Amino acid sequence: MFLKKMLTISIWLVFFAISCKSIKPDHTLVKTKSQIEETDQFNAKIIEALTIMEARTRNPSSTGHQIARESLERISNYDVTISSFKGLTYNDYRHVMIDLEQTVVETPKDIDSWQVSKKDLALIESLLSGYMWGNRLYFRIHKDDDAVELSSTLVHEVNHIANRSECSYYQDIKTQEVDDTLASVEEFRAFYAECLYLNNVSHPNRECGKFAAESLKKYDYDDFDGSRLQPKVKKIYDLFQNIPVVNLLVNSAWPDDFNECM
Ligand SMILES: [Zn+2]
Repeated sequence: MFLKKMLTISIWLVFFAISCKSIKPDHTLVKTKSQIEETDQFNAKIIEALTIMEARTRNPSSTGHQIARESLERISNYDVTISSFKGLTYNDYRHVMIDLEQTVVETPKDIDSWQVSKKDLALIESLLSGYMWGNRLYFRIHKDDDAVELSSTLVHEVNHIANRSECSYYQDIKTQEVDDTLASVEEFRAFYAECLYLNNVSHPNRECGKFAAESLKKYDYDDFDGSRLQPKVKKIYDLFQNIPVVNLLVNSAWPDDFNECM
């Protein structure tokens, strides 16, 4: 699933561990200077974003502190993995390529040691800033990227992961043809969470509902059709309309697993 945006010491340690865990070893003994600089730059930017998120957890009067805390906890507990596109697993690579309507290389004999080719990596990075599937986030990060924006994107994506949005996003999971109505619900919720995180709002439903609705328009989800909603999704839609949705966004049940969608 495309990312729709881009678009303290303990944190340092946490992120170092995350990056070691989530980026596949490349089996080369000698890294070129540019490879090292690229990895350092990626890690530094993510750490900067997580540091901003951590600071927000320490402000209980802010509407976003609960969401900041929950997102940071999921990331630091390794419930979420973050890596560059070089760390794509074969299955996630397949999802990316299908979404981009590109030819997928045949299933390799050894999926575990498979690595994305330079050609496909260049193609993917030329078209995407980020991608998520299951509990895995992939980013193309530039040193000039805004760290506050990256931290809110992380909150947005952790919300997608908590809700397994990729399983309620497509008309047919096999062809990955996006269903605008289903996708709108997933995006509305994620943008709402992002708004709560970024702002100290006094009327969350009104203010963040407006932010989320405007974001849907901005990212071309204007085909929203409430009458087509499936019962499961309709329930969420009704909640958006009627009750404070904060309860939906925090303390949500974390998925039991991240196996392929049924
Ligand atoms: Zn999204």
